[in-house]
Amino acid sequence: MQRIAHWINGDEWTGAAGRTAPVHDPATGRQTAEVLLADAGVVDEAVAAAVKAADGWRRASLTQRTRVLFAFRQILDARKEELGAVITAEHGKVLSDAVGEVTRGLEVVEFACGIPHLLKGGHSEGVSTGVDVHSVRQPLGVVAVISPFNFPAMVPLWFVPVAIAAGNAVVLKPSEKDPSAANLMAAWWKEAGLPDGVLTVLHGDKEAVDGLLTHPDVKAVSFVGSTPIARYVYETGTAHGKRVQALGGAKNHMLVLPDADLDLAADAAVNAGFGSAGERCMAISALVAVESVADELVAKIAERMAGLSTGDGRRGCDMGPLVCAQHRDKVAGYVDAGVAEGADLVVDGRDVVPEGDPNGYWLGPTLFDRVTPEMSIYREEIFGPVLSVVRVPGYEEGLRLINDNPYGNGTAIFTNDGGAARRFEYEVEVGMVGINVPIPVPMAYYSFGGWKNSLFGDSHAHGAEGVHFFTRGKVVTTRWLDPSHGGINLGFPTHG
Ligand code: NAD
Repeated sequence: MQRIAHWINGDEWTGAAGRTAPVHDPATGRQTAEVLLADAGVVDEAVAAAVKAADGWRRASLTQRTRVLFAFRQILDARKEELGAVITAEHGKVLSDAVGEVTRGLEVVEFACGIPHLLKGGHSEGVSTGVDVHSVRQPLGVVAVISPFNFPAMVPLWFVPVAIAAGNAVVLKPSEKDPSAANLMAAWWKEAGLPDGVLTVLHGDKEAVDGLLTHPDVKAVSFVGSTPIARYVYETGTAHGKRVQALGGAKNHMLVLPDADLDLAADAAVNAGFGSAGERCMAISALVAVESVADELVAKIAERMAGLSTGDGRRGCDMGPLVCAQHRDKVAGYVDAGVAEGADLVVDGRDVVPEGDPNGYWLGPTLFDRVTPEMSIYREEIFGPVLSVVRVPGYEEGLRLINDNPYGNGTAIFTNDGGAARRFEYEVEVGMVGINVPIPVPMAYYSFGGWKNSLFGDSHAHGAEGVHFFTRGKVVTTRWLDPSHGGINLGFPTHG
């Protein structure tokens, strides 16, 4: 049985194992590895190594740091497929999708390669006679990144390259469900020239997370996961004096107006609803259709769903399994609930015949029509291949539905009416908006993040906000003394 160990001080940790968790291949249901779960002692050891490394790394010049970033970028780009295969084997998403997430993560590495420009401060000459002021941004020290199962490469890459480029040491706590991608990337960072200890991978569950949240030497926490844990991480981390950005769950709506191209809207709904088996924080899970086109749109979506293959992600199927048996059962339970609550089950994924091992965690694409806001399949984040169509009379009711939802991660409008799109952009209370784009994940040089229960804290990931999050500002006032500055004056300094 393969054992997945922590990565501490630039190498696999060899201490006594303690608690472990099984890691499965979701397409076969077989256990492929066990991952170590850190206790408080290992957290201390990992953070101590990171503290030691942080001091040397912040002193490394911008040129030295960016050379490592560029080298890591080359390695990651050249070995995308290798990392993609590791992701598919533990997460289940199809290979092309796994490589796609690495590519989106790579964009953040490329963004972070520009850190010398991003860290430039301001300078004001002559704010007072003979006095100049300039500002710098300095690293925080040791920062923690806690990531979810659904993007084992991309989500760590939202934060790690920016934090490292800015001169911090990072302790990454990946999901225990698919932990191998983090170790592989850590080995590649070392190969790229990153000094030992600057990146640590600490595996574990709540115990490891709590250890990081309360550790006095961890200065900031970037978390991505479900809303209840995001809220907990934000509250606990900030109560312990840390800077925290905690990205939570989602319920993303796609509003389709009557003038939209319904074929393109149906394509988009299927791709965004069932890609990665709906296990994306930017997946479309609620399709809000204006009544006059709802029948036609539902028919087009159902027609496309009939052509989707569900199976082993290594076999060229459209959609893979769910991540674990427990999650598959939970999502299937929502399908049962939707039926019991009276929604129209148009396509039932519970009967899927997978292309692959029957013991995989299968659930096929599922479509509900005539879902109402009171139903649990509408209210709760399902995080699986279940698309719910909610019918509304028009734009106003659609907008109200979206704005009344407690989540605010992503949303999309499909229309050919520029005026309606512009109004939607202005009025919708959601952090990331797509206009005829169903999964509007921002480019790396913008920042990723939602509103309301989809984000706790005030900083989004990567882009300018990411650089700001991983640095703190300092303003320096300078005067080079000459004899005219002498004399005693206890009054408050003013400018002359
Ligand atoms: P999760 O909240 O169960 O786990 C996330 C991380 O928290 C993992 O590292 C896990 O080990 C840790 N954790 C779990 N339970 C904990 C506890 N009780 N105390 C402390 N730490 C704990 O989330 P998940 O199931 O891995 O990921 C899916 C969720 O993540 C979905 O809700 C999805 O919407 C969300 N997500 C959000 C975004 C975003 O950008 N907003 C991106 C990806 C995923």
